[in-house]
Amino acid sequence: MNKVIVLRFGELYLKGKNRSYFEKVLINNIKKSLNEFNCHVIKSGGRYFVTQYDEFDEQQIIDKLTKVFGLVSLSRAVEVNSDVDEIKDYVSNLHLDNKSFRVSVTRADKNFPIVSSEFEKILGGIILKNNPDIKVSLKDFDTEVVIDIRENKNTYISTEKIQCAGGMPLSTAGNGLLLLSGGIDSPVAAYMIARRGMSLSAIHFYSFPYTSELAKQKVFTLAKKLTEYLGNIKLYLCKFTHIQEEIHKHCSPEYMITLMRRFMMKISARICKQNGLKAIITGENLGQVASQTVESMTVTNFAQTEIPIFRPLIGFDKQNIIEIANMIDTYNTSILPYEDCCTVFLPKNPIIKPKMEKVLIEEKKLDIDNLIEEAINGLEILEF
Ligand code: ATP
Ligand code: MG
Repeated sequence: MNKVIVLRFGELYLKGKNRSYFEKVLINNIKKSLNEFNCHVIKSGGRYFVTQYDEFDEQQIIDKLTKVFGLVSLSRAVEVNSDVDEIKDYVSNLHLDNKSFRVSVTRADKNFPIVSSEFEKILGGIILKNNPDIKVSLKDFDTEVVIDIRENKNTYISTEKIQCAGGMPLSTAGNGLLLLSGGIDSPVAAYMIARRGMSLSAIHFYSFPYTSELAKQKVFTLAKKLTEYLGNIKLYLCKFTHIQEEIHKHCSPEYMITLMRRFMMKISARICKQNGLKAIITGENLGQVASQTVESMTVTNFAQTEIPIFRPLIGFDKQNIIEIANMIDTYNTSILPYEDCCTVFLPKNPIIKPKMEKVLIEEKKLDIDNLIEEAINGLEILEF
């Protein structure tokens, strides 16, 4: 009798001809996420399993697996021979703490001598006899005892199902550049878009000496936390000080944020083009602050026209964003009070509905090309 972890995949089964590609990427991602452990990821009888792991590592392995996109659920299970007596024997030793249960038998091996519905009744009877306080409930059960009789003459028995992250395997939907601030939203945006299969690099704009070293450290901590879901992350650090000073010196104060955001997009698009990244991702959310109106986003969008901007949180409620931030463990870091470059030179009355003509007039006052060139030349790259 071996202990194994049964892995279940989600949507990739819907992908027809591409299924084998998605499956291959997912298995690769699973192996990568477990590379620090001694274990095997194998396919057997049409199912995927983690096998031959050290019992001591089990919880850590499960924690890693729940963060692999494309996995829907997993179960700790035992592997026994597909033998009626052996299965009965195992089931008769089950002690279920919960109030209700059901048995679900699937029989891929049609040579197994008892049909599923019959075997469910037999095994249910055995469990009832040994757990007198429990009752059968086919619909609202606390515990489902799953008996999966495979074609490879092995049967897998489990009594739990652990939810995983779901979504699509990382890197099956291209790659993008995340604008990572120190706030609550952008790490959540990263999670949402990566969950659809897009792998990410990140860029952070900082304004030393107006923003502190601690603000930078906070972003590093966030990037590190995101690697749990995103794998390795390349972080571009862009010094934004000179650009902000120039805008502050020459342009109408109410356009400060609008102009800054357009610079961010122009610089990000350049990095995307140079590195084969196909989208820019932000944590913007409609209506949250002055820079997040449809008019603001329109002038931000037209700062460049070659790279699409994805805003996965556009319609989320703040509460919902906070829940996800807590789930991915970025919230407590995000709320640390270090200032972001967007708050430096913050005008009293930022424009809420910027006009494109006015934006272009303001930008004429700046040496945009050289400022961008300087920012690009000064980029630092860190790996997490
Ligand atoms: P967040 O919580 O992600 O900081 P926010 O609600 O504070 O978002 P803004 O400050 O307007 O909103 O920023 C909107 C988006 O712009 C952020 O989600 C992020 O993607 C990007 N952004 C803002 N500041 C920076 C920065 N310093 N470096 C990189 N990206 C940034
Ligand atoms: Mg912010």
